[in-house]
Amino acid sequence: MKITFLGTSHGVPAADRFCSCAMLDVGGALYFIDAGAPLIDILLRRGVNLDNVRAIFTTHIHGDHTNGLLALGDLFSWYFKTTSVDIYLTEQRGIDAFSEMIRTVEGGLDEARVRFRLMTADTVYEDENIRVTPFPTQHMASAGRPAYAYLVEAEGKKVLFSGDLSQHLAKGDFPAYALQNPVDLMVCEMAHFGVEHVRPYLEKCRARTLLFNHVFPLHKLEEINALDGAFGYPIRTVEDGDEVTL
Ligand SMILES: [Zn+2]
Ligand SMILES: [Zn+2]
Repeated sequence: MKITFLGTSHGVPAADRFCSCAMLDVGGALYFIDAGAPLIDILLRRGVNLDNVRAIFTTHIHGDHTNGLLALGDLFSWYFKTTSVDIYLTEQRGIDAFSEMIRTVEGGLDEARVRFRLMTADTVYEDENIRVTPFPTQHMASAGRPAYAYLVEAEGKKVLFSGDLSQHLAKGDFPAYALQNPVDLMVCEMAHFGVEHVRPYLEKCRARTLLFNHVFPLHKLEEINALDGAFGYPIRTVEDGDEVTL
């Protein structure tokens, strides 16, 4: 499995960072965690065969995780007619809104190929390549809205994506799965709490490698990278374009 970080910024893009998006290549099939970056533009610029796109899993509805979906869904629907994709959103009103916007701008939506689907705490995605299991987080709990971390299992490897977490990390929002089970890689956000708040979890974390994305403010980059090796496994931040092969 090869993971390419297409967007590593927090809630706002910057000159050198798109918003959250990671591409997973499993035997040539492509999956995505979040779509905050201008995803279709990036894929075309990288020369990606769009027919290999299989599914997109968004961690929550915030725009820095979903803003790339409109252009992608629109173009897959009316132009790139050999593509077929499952797009998971965490709230039905998001599905309704994206679908209606595409219908509005194009006069229709090819729902047989561009399939917006609802992610729930009980959903498990599984095909011949990959298994994706959601774990609810408290990121949007104060608004009564869902958000998820995702466990991705493919080719005998396990990767945990935290999605966005709660500002009250100390109340226990660090994904418990990574504390209780070994994972080959954990990708954790770093915008909603301080490095000092996550440190107690890093001591107990069973990840073989921990990468931080979604970092803000940027002075944390240095703080995070200074933790490398402090807990017996590699810790570092990622930038747009970084690739990891497991
Ligand atoms: Zn975010
Ligand atoms: Zn968010």
